[in-house]
Amino acid sequence: TLSNRLKIVAEYLPQGAHFADIGSDHAYLPAYVCQRDKTASAIAGEVNQGPLDSAKKTIRFHQLEERIDARLGDGLSVINEGEVKQIVIAGMGGGLITSILENHAPIAKSAERIIAQPNVDARAVRRWFDQNDFILRAEEIVDEQGHIYEVLVADRYTEASSPYSDNELKKGRQLLLGPYLMKEKNAAFIKKWSQEIMNIERIILQMQQAKQINHEKIADFQTELYWMKEELD
Ligand code: SAM
Repeated sequence: TLSNRLKIVAEYLPQGAHFADIGSDHAYLPAYVCQRDKTASAIAGEVNQGPLDSAKKTIRFHQLEERIDARLGDGLSVINEGEVKQIVIAGMGGGLITSILENHAPIAKSAERIIAQPNVDARAVRRWFDQNDFILRAEEIVDEQGHIYEVLVADRYTEASSPYSDNELKKGRQLLLGPYLMKEKNAAFIKKWSQEIMNIERIILQMQQAKQINHEKIADFQTELYWMKEELD
């Protein structure tokens, strides 16, 4: 069965979705969605041949060749502008997700909705959305077998307003922690940021012990530590 994090992604695809799953690997997500919704169709993009072959195998196994097209290529290059309504990029770092969006920004911007599931650095993705007219509509954070995953959902053509504060400092904090997640503060959120506090404190200590003190970096860390600790209080 599909992982919880990908089930959450699927919940944010509308009925009759026509979406691209970039970095689809086994194409489990498109197969799951298309099996449950006979009106859905998808493009499974993969940059590597091995995963693309796995995707094709899954698609054939479920006899979904008519509705899921597996394509080889880098990021959004496998789709044309306006070809899909939704784009999913899951199971990668936020930095990689952001560069995939940025490398073909006009294609990314032709989608109505982008659903990202960054394994790390969700902030990079929130920033990209914010700077590219995508309004963050929902966020989820889940603990799956000890790993914590975030799912970010953003819409381009929407009446909804930005969830961020006008105050730059507050906004910096919201970009790091997630404007919706910090309101909800569920168990996964608390676990993630408790671990993050320990990680950062260890990194600072290691920098000090190695006498490689980057004052600017440490100042950023201190600000972030302050935000995290205040949020968990
Ligand atoms: N999306 C699936 C998930 O969430 O379970 C698979 C995640 S898997 C860890 C990452 C996949 O992304 C790999 O199959 C890799 O080949 C693919 N990938 C990495 N960079 C890519 C890129 N620039 N364009 C397309 N696929 C990429």
